[in-house]
Amino acid sequence: MPGCPTPDKSWTAPVGDGAIDDRVERTNGEGREPAMTTTDRTSLPAPTYAGGTRAITTTPVVGTPRREYAEMFVPGEEELEDGELRVTVLGSGNPFVTRAQSSASVLVEIGNAERDLFVLDLGSGSLANYASLKLPVNKLDKVFLTHLHADHTADLITLSGSYSKVGRADRPVAVWGPSGTEPRLGTRHFVESIQEALAWDTEGSRGPINPDSLEMAVTEFDFMQTQVVYEANDVTVTSFPVIHAASGAVGYRFDFAGLTFVHSGDTRAGWPLVHACEGGVDLLIHECFPPAAALAAATGLSIERATIALNAAHTSPPAAGKVFGLVRPRMAGLIHTFLSPETIQLIFAELRAVYDGPVVQTQDLTVFNVTREAVVARQAQVIDQLPPIAGEQRVEYTPVQPPPPEWWADALLPLDDVQAIT
Ligand SMILES: [Zn+2]
Ligand SMILES: [Zn+2]
Repeated sequence: MPGCPTPDKSWTAPVGDGAIDDRVERTNGEGREPAMTTTDRTSLPAPTYAGGTRAITTTPVVGTPRREYAEMFVPGEEELEDGELRVTVLGSGNPFVTRAQSSASVLVEIGNAERDLFVLDLGSGSLANYASLKLPVNKLDKVFLTHLHADHTADLITLSGSYSKVGRADRPVAVWGPSGTEPRLGTRHFVESIQEALAWDTEGSRGPINPDSLEMAVTEFDFMQTQVVYEANDVTVTSFPVIHAASGAVGYRFDFAGLTFVHSGDTRAGWPLVHACEGGVDLLIHECFPPAAALAAATGLSIERATIALNAAHTSPPAAGKVFGLVRPRMAGLIHTFLSPETIQLIFAELRAVYDGPVVQTQDLTVFNVTREAVVARQAQVIDQLPPIAGEQRVEYTPVQPPPPEWWADALLPLDDVQAIT
């Protein structure tokens, strides 16, 4: 594809054998870590749920950054630069959502004039991670679904029904997604059915909430075509088919300012993704499942179920390594794995047998800064409880008090006789 960067081959092959660093890394007394000084490590950091503070990789920096990056990404303290892509994993996990891992979701921040936000999938819990990033609620209104499994879509109800009550006020949520092999299996049917199911929520929100913000606008496209599905404000999004569970799953390629980010969604290793990556990719996040025995041990699935899940729908570490070897992204990321020290170790051991480029096992709130000069992977240091930031409101709406149902008059407790305790 014209205008895309040639993959940077200048990375240094990582060292180490994939052993997890069991020294728990903690921030210093001021809650901040010193600036990042090294690009290679000898062992993998512990996951954040086990006290780690760094991205799970031995190669957190590829290239030569133009600026200094703090050891951890602190929301609100780093402006997105012009021409930069910042990619944040909101949900690194799979259907079993845990406090450590939300289900599948990736946020893309664009360093264009509009500072556009896109989210790829919205699995359970992913919006709780979004809430920790000090980003405006009102700007999160563009969703690209890779497929319609519940672990990729469940927080769509939260974005449509609940975020409209905390600042997403201007307009409908716009949802892009693939067709299915018949209309009832496509994104349009899915989104319109959710809209229908939200009838009570919509009715109960009339008056205080701009009704436009309670809607969802769907763009469904042919899942089988590799095609541009979005083009505005210097951002081009291309979809391509992927091989997962049933026909009707896609991955996406984002192009902006000569930078390219590709996300596989859920898939087996396949050619359409490899072809969609032609011209070079700065960051490729590809799903990867641990070997079936490890998956079974970590999740309690039977070995039979784990084997079927892996073979029918997902990508093993050697298969991910094969994809990375064909694409040669500047930085590769793995996603959609139940993270345990054992699975991380196994994944890296199997992957390293076939691929030696920079790879990050993503976890929730792994942040990639993608610029022409470098790709940097860090973990975010966040505050768990923040009020929503509504953000700039572009549409005027005057909230009105809806008339109460008549029966409330008799049902409500009188409060004018409440006595203070003396
Ligand atoms: Zn999934
Ligand atoms: Zn899936």
